[in-house]
Amino acid sequence: MIQHPGNVFVVSAPSGAGKSTLTQRLVRTVPDLIFSISFTTRSPRPGEVDGRDYFFIDDARFDAMVRGGGFVEWVQIYGHRYGTGRDWLSGVLATGQDVLLDIETTGALNMRRAIPDARMIFILPPSAASLEQRLRSRGKDSDEQIRIRMQHARHEMELYHAYDYLVLNDDLELAYRQFESVIYATRASRERMAPEARRILEGF
Ligand code: ADP
Ligand code: 5GP
Repeated sequence: MIQHPGNVFVVSAPSGAGKSTLTQRLVRTVPDLIFSISFTTRSPRPGEVDGRDYFFIDDARFDAMVRGGGFVEWVQIYGHRYGTGRDWLSGVLATGQDVLLDIETTGALNMRRAIPDARMIFILPPSAASLEQRLRSRGKDSDEQIRIRMQHARHEMELYHAYDYLVLNDDLELAYRQFESVIYATRASRERMAPEARRILEGF
């Protein structure tokens, strides 16, 4: 189990539900919220930067990290492996900053075992039809990839009940405000604020 002063937010969603749109804006806007950089064996897409979007590593290094217990969780999906680095995550959390992890459902459930007080957020698309429409209008995936993503989306949707918060991304502004509220509400929770309350109390 990882000991940590900062909060851990795990966010999952079927591909196309709007997770990148929401999380990119959050980490730009909310102070002291760091986006988790995963390790992956897939190649960078145009515009992706090593050490910013992912740590892009080869199979041999991924294997070595798995053997050395270097991942809090890892999975194989869409033909590649992805994992959350233990040292990387512990290092950021030790600074007291909050971390937002964008990981798929299997990894998210494993993360909850490693960090039981992680706050789990699932982004819901308004409907299956609108999810497919968003995947098409994004223009990044072939028809075959869209078919695979829609099949996988159903499996991911079935796991919604493992999450603490379900943010419906229909109206983007409302979804953003709800997501941001989860972060600020978690920061204000009694268990998080109790040390500060005790410190203030000592001054009376
Ligand atoms: P994900 O990261 O979950 O795969 P994206 O953030 O890439 O999804 O969003 C998929 C597409 O849907 C993008 O073209 C994005 O601009 C669009 N989109 C995101 N949120 C909304 C929304 N609330 N209403 C309409 N379109 C949206
Ligand atoms: P992409 O290749 O589109 O960047 O990511 C594919 C999927 O991998 C997304 O659903 C993303 O959330 C997930 N993912 C990215 N990093 C990790 C990770 O470290 N662990 C797990 N379990 N999933 C990840």
